[in-house]
Amino acid sequence: MAQALNQGAAQAIPAASDQPMIQLSAVNKWYGQFHVLKDIDLTVYTGERIVVCGPSGSGKSTMIRCINRLEEHQKGKIVVDGVELTHDLKKIEQVRREVGMVFQHFNLFPHLTVLENLTLAPIWVRKMPKKDAEEVAMTYLKRVKIPEQASKYPGQLSGGQQQRVAIARSLCMNPKVMLFDEPTSALDPEMIKEVLDVMIGLAETGMTMICVTHEMGFARTVANRVIFMDRGEIIEQNDPEEFFKNPKSERTKLFLSQIL
Ligand code: ADP
Ligand code: MG
Repeated sequence: MAQALNQGAAQAIPAASDQPMIQLSAVNKWYGQFHVLKDIDLTVYTGERIVVCGPSGSGKSTMIRCINRLEEHQKGKIVVDGVELTHDLKKIEQVRREVGMVFQHFNLFPHLTVLENLTLAPIWVRKMPKKDAEEVAMTYLKRVKIPEQASKYPGQLSGGQQQRVAIARSLCMNPKVMLFDEPTSALDPEMIKEVLDVMIGLAETGMTMICVTHEMGFARTVANRVIFMDRGEIIEQNDPEEFFKNPKSERTKLFLSQIL
């Protein structure tokens, strides 16, 4: 299955494996009376690059936030790298160690320098010596092409640079999976590309990624699978070529006609 889903991938991106990394089975969630996720079934294989799209309010953020337990599901099962998410705090921590997340608003600590933002968790959570943490941080700042910004504060950086810092910060924890929730939608158009380029570079390393985004150019070149959600359900999913050329549901067609 993963093999067949891989056809849309760009040449430089390694193929996904058939090892499940994330499994959601009949996942349901309510906010009070409001049924936000309805029987979500989704298996993400190691090395897959999934783009999730759909109208505002369809449950995209809620779904990916359930994967690192920023939100709790009430019914069904979520397993990340063999660990089931339950109320067990040890397991939640174990999953969070493996799952990096990048948000629309960069969520950097404004009173810390870029370097301090990157080394905070490795030092305090991973107990890494400061010197080592700084070395790792500089490696990732180079990867996102802003090593010269290390001693600045987030407020002194552009939005695109701040988002690249946020990505680098996640990578410093050496995650197995990266979740992106509309990472470019708060950015001015001229900064979108620099963030997408970093995400493409990450895909080329073989990282398992789930990206909520409406950047359909990115979906076409990087995703091996595009998922369309509406009103709490996965309506359809396909490799990008089929998804864009041959959307099956009327809801998908309507959505694509509005954004393309
Ligand atoms: P999307 O990311 O697709 O825009 P969300 O997952 O953010 O959708 O939200 C799905 C629905 O759940 C929306 O109608 C939203 O208003 C509602 N919602 C999101 N978060 C909460 C919350 N904490 N409490 C109550 N309702 C929420
Ligand atoms: Mg959202």
